[in-house]
Amino acid sequence: MRFRKKTNEKIIIFYYIIAIVIPCFLLGVLAFRGIKNDQALVEREHQRILMETTQKIYKDLEESLATIENSFSELNIQDISQKKEIFNNDTLVQFIHQYDIVEVIFSLENKTILALCNNGLLFFPDGYFPENINNSIPGNLWNGWQYEFMEKDYARAFRFYNALLKNTNDKKFRGELLNAMARVQKKRGDIPSALSIYDSIQNNYSQIYLQINIPLGIVSFIEKTGCYLQVNDTVSALENTVKFLEMLAGRHWELEQSYYNDYLEKAYETIINCKNSRNRILNSSLDKAESIKERILAEQPTTEYLLTFLNGRESIVKSVYSAKNTANHRYKQALNGRQYFYTVFPGEENTDWGILFSTNKILEKLIVPALNEYASSVRFYWMIATNEGEFLAGSDKIPEGLFSVTSDFPPGQPPWTLTLYPEEKGLFNTFFRSGGGFFFYIFIAVLVILGFGLIFTLQTVNNKIELSKMKSSFVSTVSHELKSPLTSIRQIAEILAFKKVSAERKEKYFTMILQQSERLSHLIENILDFSKIEAGQKQFHFEETDLAALTGNVIQTFRDRLTSADFHIHFTSPKAVNKIQGDREALEQVLYNLIDNAVKYSGNSKKIEISVESDYEWVELCVRDYGIGISKKEHEKIFQQFYRVEQELTGTVKGTGIGLTIVKQIMDVHKGKIKVESTPGEGSSFCIKFPVYK
Ligand code: ADP
Repeated sequence: MRFRKKTNEKIIIFYYIIAIVIPCFLLGVLAFRGIKNDQALVEREHQRILMETTQKIYKDLEESLATIENSFSELNIQDISQKKEIFNNDTLVQFIHQYDIVEVIFSLENKTILALCNNGLLFFPDGYFPENINNSIPGNLWNGWQYEFMEKDYARAFRFYNALLKNTNDKKFRGELLNAMARVQKKRGDIPSALSIYDSIQNNYSQIYLQINIPLGIVSFIEKTGCYLQVNDTVSALENTVKFLEMLAGRHWELEQSYYNDYLEKAYETIINCKNSRNRILNSSLDKAESIKERILAEQPTTEYLLTFLNGRESIVKSVYSAKNTANHRYKQALNGRQYFYTVFPGEENTDWGILFSTNKILEKLIVPALNEYASSVRFYWMIATNEGEFLAGSDKIPEGLFSVTSDFPPGQPPWTLTLYPEEKGLFNTFFRSGGGFFFYIFIAVLVILGFGLIFTLQTVNNKIELSKMKSSFVSTVSHELKSPLTSIRQIAEILAFKKVSAERKEKYFTMILQQSERLSHLIENILDFSKIEAGQKQFHFEETDLAALTGNVIQTFRDRLTSADFHIHFTSPKAVNKIQGDREALEQVLYNLIDNAVKYSGNSKKIEISVESDYEWVELCVRDYGIGISKKEHEKIFQQFYRVEQELTGTVKGTGIGLTIVKQIMDVHKGKIKVESTPGEGSSFCIKFPVYK
């Protein structure tokens, strides 16, 4: 038995390998190769799409630049005349504001002089304003200075300045005098008076310059702050400084870069000092100061960028007027580490004009949004770097190891390179995108077949093992079952043959022989029926049958066996029971098996109830015992062939495990139903139900 079992398993596994694993493996290899090929195709396709995308980006930029250049050409620039290096012109400022990416407009006069249109510069280049030659102390102030600085006779100095003030209408002089008077009052400690004079200077003389870069407006702001601090009025000092900062940010005075920065420093310093004083009321002013500071910090680089451009006039002139470099009249130039990109339009009357584009804004406003938009539909990562390889902008996180498509921006565009990386990588993505689908499905199908094949094989092997286990126990129990009645019959026969036995005893022995042979014949009938039904050879003879009468007969055959074992059978049945269509022998077998089980598995209980009930449609018979019962999970299994519940109690009870199988098979043939209700320790009830014969 064991030898056969092993061979069976081996054969199943062998077939599994031949029929499923090897073909699946071959299919898998083919599918894998297909996917690989597909991946190469996908990558090529991607490369093509990415190349197209770069071309689109360049084309879009080209169009934007051309639009701006065309509309600049249409401006009537002949009318514009400028004398200064930094000149004001509303038409040009308007034009600059119209286009995001235009930084400034500049002119080139006589192919030598570079001038910028002032598009909101925060400050001017150092040395831009010519020194005021006549910078000595005006003669008529001399005495006042004498009183104020040498003699320190402030009252007299004040009277002197005041007298002069009354006699002059010259605005600059009046401003200077007021400034001197406020200064004297401050020195005298008359802060309120000093403050009110500074206020009036601020209101009327703010734009009067004591010297270049030193406007009275700024002087009075600084002095006022000093006054407030002198009387410990931090709040006013801060408010005054914030206002000062606001005016610096608003380009209120024309100042050279170093002065502008000095003034900023001064204002920042005061703000920091006030911050340290930890006065709660200051918070809103401090916030305001912070936001102005941020604004200035954001704008400063643009002014510096433009001043560097202005400062590089010589090399600009050189590259514009040296013959070769003329792709679309656009020029790319590095000055002081900064990149410049501009177009020059040959003009009439010795003046050429140029548009300086903002490379930052070209990136921010044109290229980055366009790339992000394309990237969301085509899916790629991107990066822009200068031609020298310095990173300028790119997707957030570019994974390593992606293949990439790199190209330089065309000659008439900023000196950058654009690199695109397709997002997809590896087999997995190929599966889900593009033409990889077909092979992917083959792959999945192979896996599914393998999986199912494996489960099926394991199940089959397992079932085989189970079945052969059950068969072997069946054989041993059957032989035992056959042997024990035979032995008893033989022993009784020997007694009867060789010993003198009383008539009464004889009768008892004959009854025992009868019982044992009946058991034997039922057992053999069960086995024969089982094999016949299994082989589909069992013949059934259906006839009109009275189930109640049939049950009565079967119970009769049990009577002797039951009385000797003290069993009490309680049989109830209505007088008239509807007939059913059935094979009597088979039905007797069913009843015998059910009652036999009830007896066998009754344990210590000696009570069995059998009832027949009928209605218009059905006739039902139930056999109920109060024995060991069956747990719920076994209810289905007990009908399987050779299945026996393994438990201590049944262990001692003999059985073949085919009784209920036959019951089920016969019930199926009769189109009947079988139902088990059982609780371990409380007993079981097996009910069979037949359709009424009509
Ligand atoms: P067996 O020859 O073992 O009785 P059956 O096919 O008749 O085989 O029954 C299958 C199993 O169902 C039995 O081994 C037993 O464990 C359980 N069984 C059947 N009838 C009863 C019952 N009335 N009470 C408890 N267990 C039962």
